Amino acid sequence: MNGEKRPEGAYDVLIIGGGPAGLTAGLYAARANFRTLLVESGMVMSQITVTHLVENYPGVPDIGGYDLVEKFKEQAKKFGLQGAYAAVAGLEKATLSGMPGWKVKTDAGDFEALSVIVATGANWRKIGVPGEAEFTGRGVSYCATCDGPFFREREVVVIGGGDTAVQEALFLTNFASKVTIVHRRDRLRATPLLRERAASNPKIAFAWDSIVTEIGGKEAVTHVRVANVKEPEETREIPADGVFVFIGLVPNTGFLEGAVKLGRDGYIVADRDMKTSAPGIFACGDCIEKLLRQVVTACGDGATAAFSAQLYVEDLKGTGYPR
Ligand code: NAP
Repeated sequence: MNGEKRPEGAYDVLIIGGGPAGLTAGLYAARANFRTLLVESGMVMSQITVTHLVENYPGVPDIGGYDLVEKFKEQAKKFGLQGAYAAVAGLEKATLSGMPGWKVKTDAGDFEALSVIVATGANWRKIGVPGEAEFTGRGVSYCATCDGPFFREREVVVIGGGDTAVQEALFLTNFASKVTIVHRRDRLRATPLLRERAASNPKIAFAWDSIVTEIGGKEAVTHVRVANVKEPEETREIPADGVFVFIGLVPNTGFLEGAVKLGRDGYIVADRDMKTSAPGIFACGDCIEKLLRQVVTACGDGATAAFSAQLYVEDLKGTGYPR
């Protein structure tokens, strides 16, 4: 990279998001000797950092999500990845020393880069029933790792039927006396291993074909009201001191409106090389449209996005190896 054309002050690669996808992209781009900055808000907790236990990341069995991310950070920093805390508001086209690039607008000022990798992940979806907003922090939670210990010997409800709901319900049995999983179908979406563990756990009960219509209480949550989806008139109360909502994800892509093509539910449309519809913008991890959202797939995406960005930047600078 010596003697190359490099716009002053601009980064070769700017990564938005500090979860497994962004940190892997950072490791690869920095290790390829590109001037790389990773920007993260510091406000939004990456999903993985609040995951109690990661059992399926190959080679690192049974590690806490937070500890795994710390290892990713350490490894990327070793190769020169730079970091900044800033909330990104939008992307604008820019010309950098005659080359097309991007201005990344943030609450800590603007950054310029020839390529951008979006790895902003996704956040918990809200259920939108009466009581949810009112009791958030007073019984309603989206993080079992953070709030589970407050519910020692208490009864809690988990809403959802996917991997997250079941994994977190199992974790909550370490504290709660009873965990009722309320799911809108008559079987779980979660992977078979988790289904089996939940079915054989004596602290877990199920409310099948049920949706929560209201979260009730006074100072704090005392119960949820559930309706049967097959008999909507049939409602009942389930006593609960805590309500954990795990009903899927909403991608953190609002700031990209108009900059890149977004697909269903706002996920970024990226091809297998992690290229988006905008030249120089790549995307990886949970924020893109894809089949499987796991740490290992996020890392794979991150590596691919960094390599694609590398080829793109080399083409801009005319430093690439002939292809
Ligand atoms: P998910 O797989 O999308 O599951 C969401 C669950 O919530 C579904 O059961 C869905 O019901 C239910 N749901 C959605 N909207 C609802 C509503 N308004 N009211 C009631 N229920 C609602 O989401 P996730 O479990 O958070 O998982 C996200 C991704 O992370 C998945 O790809 C998952 O495999 C992955 N993940 C993997 C692991 C692991 O490997 N250990 C752990 C956690 C997450 P329906 O089934 O009826 O649609």
